Amino acid sequence: MPRPLVLILGDQLSTDLASLGDLPDDAVVALCEVAGEGRYVPHHPQKIVLILSAMRHFAEALRRRGLRVHYSALDDPDNLQSLIPEAERLAALYGCDEIRAVRPGEWRLWQAMTARAGAPLPWRLIEDDRFYTTPEAFAAWADGRKALRLEYFYRELRRRTGLLMEDGAPAGGKWNYDADNREPLPDALEIPAAPRHGLDATTEAVMALVEEHFGDHFGGLAGFQWPVTRRQALVDLRHFLAHLLPDFGRYQDAISDSEPFLFHSRLSAALNIGLLSPREVCEAAEREYLEGRAPLNSVEGFIRQILGWREYVRGLYWTRMPDYKRGNALGANGELPACYWSGDTELRCLRRAIEMTRDNAYAHHIQRLMVTGNIALLCDVSPEALCDWYLAVYADACEWVESYPTCWAWCCTPTAA
Ligand SMILES: Cc1cc2nc3c(=O)[nH]c(=O)nc-3n(C[C@H](O)[C@H](O)[C@H](O)COP(=O)(O)OP(=O)(O)OC[C@H]3O[C@@H](n4cnc5c(N)ncnc54)[C@H](O)[C@@H]3O)c2cc1C
Repeated sequence: MPRPLVLILGDQLSTDLASLGDLPDDAVVALCEVAGEGRYVPHHPQKIVLILSAMRHFAEALRRRGLRVHYSALDDPDNLQSLIPEAERLAALYGCDEIRAVRPGEWRLWQAMTARAGAPLPWRLIEDDRFYTTPEAFAAWADGRKALRLEYFYRELRRRTGLLMEDGAPAGGKWNYDADNREPLPDALEIPAAPRHGLDATTEAVMALVEEHFGDHFGGLAGFQWPVTRRQALVDLRHFLAHLLPDFGRYQDAISDSEPFLFHSRLSAALNIGLLSPREVCEAAEREYLEGRAPLNSVEGFIRQILGWREYVRGLYWTRMPDYKRGNALGANGELPACYWSGDTELRCLRRAIEMTRDNAYAHHIQRLMVTGNIALLCDVSPEALCDWYLAVYADACEWVESYPTCWAWCCTPTAA
């Protein structure tokens, strides 16, 4: 059996990751912090702290399970600061004869890894089974269809998973309760406060490192409250289920001048880096409906975002890259207005969306789509420039999710439902 170096990326922090199964005793698991990944857009410092701290905690969790782990820290003098050369350096260092990796989240990395498949030290790439669908299955679903409608894709996944299905029919008789998800916020409404996670020594050390290396990026660390361990992510999930999910549906499309999170779950970052799985989150939400603790419009609306939109945009990303990111059917070539970085604008909704993003590395979907997205569209901003901004500013930002809404608006593809 070959001796593998198993490379785990910063968005693959799941103990049931496909590459961690059936490992020989002499396998080496590697996690690498590299400056190249932190700098290709100016990521929000909270996003960098989240990923580096979560990686460090995950490495410890793997060591506790008895695995041999190499951790390349950002300031290791030998660190080559670029993922592929660093992984190959470590494989040579430990005498490994192949590098194993699960499909990365980004097309550019996937290309770079597949190009190394025939190298003397081969890369063996494994499909990411943490999603409900694979790029291949999505491409088969899309093949020959005139339009790729989210609604049809979503219904198929509901049937396949059985989520919110009763005797083969959708729970409550309708597939989609979007029409019940548009109430404005009443004047006096208490929004339950998000759980506060203490900062341990690992996170504090990473914060100091990030201040030193990336302190010039947009956004501050003062409000850092992202979960960096699975335990903390589960606390956030339970908080959402108990205190927010019942009202998630009706206020899903609302916006507030003062409340950044409203009844949204704030689970995207934990989902995207692998601390939570979409299956456990959807099944937990479904249980709230089945046991009478949350109404159907909330639970269906929430599950639709994860089972529907999240899977659908990932399928589109892998099916349409690399042209997808360069799409610009409206020929919009303007620069991003400077106020997207400074918040210095008299448009109050835009200013507040940017200030909240600066403070929390978060904006909810209405701020992203209707405020920052629409205003950039009206200002003729190039979709790539806006994509890069989205990729930089949110803790949950990853290219496979954020390209879709940006490119969709500019390409006018009638796919949404
Ligand atoms: C312009 C734009 C850029 C975006 N960029 C990203 C991104 O980089 N990363 C990211 O994870 N999401 C992105 N989204 C989707 C969505 O806005 C965020 O997932 C959501 O705001 C995260 O907050 P939450 O966890 O509180 O979401 P909730 O409102 O609580 O929704 C629950 C979950 O559903 C999923 N979800 C919700 N809406 C969408 C959507 N439209 N597409 C895909 N999944 C969705 C997320 O996993 C989210 O955690 C973007 C949306 C827009 C319009």
